[in-house]
Amino acid sequence: MGSMQEFTIYIVDPFHPDAVQLVQNIPYVRVILPDDPRKANWHADADGIMIRSDSKLTEEDFAKATRLRAVVKQGVGVDNIDLEGAKKHGIAIHNTPALNSESVAELSMALTLTLSRRVAEIDRAVRGGETVVRSKMLSTSMFRKTVGVVGMGNIGKIIAQKWIGAFECNVVAYDPYAPADAWSDVAHVRVSELDELLKVSDVVTLHVPLVKSTRGLIGAHALEIMKDTAILVNCARGGVVDEKALLEGLRNKQIGGAALDVMEIEPPTVDVYGEYLKYENLIMTPHIGGSTKENQSRSGMAVAETLMDVLEGREAGGKLV
Ligand code: NAD
Repeated sequence: MGSMQEFTIYIVDPFHPDAVQLVQNIPYVRVILPDDPRKANWHADADGIMIRSDSKLTEEDFAKATRLRAVVKQGVGVDNIDLEGAKKHGIAIHNTPALNSESVAELSMALTLTLSRRVAEIDRAVRGGETVVRSKMLSTSMFRKTVGVVGMGNIGKIIAQKWIGAFECNVVAYDPYAPADAWSDVAHVRVSELDELLKVSDVVTLHVPLVKSTRGLIGAHALEIMKDTAILVNCARGGVVDEKALLEGLRNKQIGGAALDVMEIEPPTVDVYGEYLKYENLIMTPHIGGSTKENQSRSGMAVAETLMDVLEGREAGGKLV
């Protein structure tokens, strides 16, 4: 190698140690970690940024960061980054789609089963010293139930395959943008109207990005036409579910239960979501869809590799957004 160019990389959100080590081991890369006080001055000297969904990047940031050339986001959702602003200032934004799909699919199913089999509720009763009368705590089996998948992308497809394979479920899918032959290898019924899916599904699981057309996609109307036994699962993004409408829906017993891994205000706290948490048939997790050891290592390293590829002018493994 000829004269080596030096790079400064800011890791602005917590990354798996494998990913941190990967960049720290490169002698000509200076790495600033999220808890380093120097992070506050990143605009001055950052060549590249490794980010997750905790931090936000605005157009103002991109205007100030004159050295910045590339940002790589772990996972698929890039709604915390102003893409237009980045484009305007010639900054490349990459993400690592598909790598965390298995982990998110598992969580959506885990949350569904937790609700359908009332696991969290019964566990709380046991911990609270109650004698659980089993005949009064009957739960619902997922065997051969109908699962509605909203968004037929990477995660949606894996979910569909898993519910069919493990529980012989019927899958109804809605995605106006997916190509006609998407999922040609998965047995499913595709509908062209969301309402058709909502009316027949025992589980409605959301796997769409947060964009204008999906904000409030599940609101008062949707909750009204869903089965009153249906389980709603949001492992996509807060804002796809209209949370005020959901609270009303729970209050009026319009649905059987809801599980949110993502919400409008994250992480969820009792201060903000206390009213919701009064319902035994609501469960919340703090955006842990991708938080498996396996995924954090794999996706984190892909972020580090992609960033180095972009900075050093190689073809990047991650995807240009
Ligand atoms: P993807 O891009 O592969 O699939 C998204 C699908 O949604 C696409 O097929 C698209 O056509 C479809 N879509 C867009 N607008 C729609 C609409 N109005 N109605 C129905 N479908 C619509 O993405 P993915 O990898 O499957 O991820 C899905 C979402 O999950 C991401 O956008 C991200 O926000 C979220 N996510 C959450 C976590 C977590 O930790 N909970 C982790 C990863 C991803």
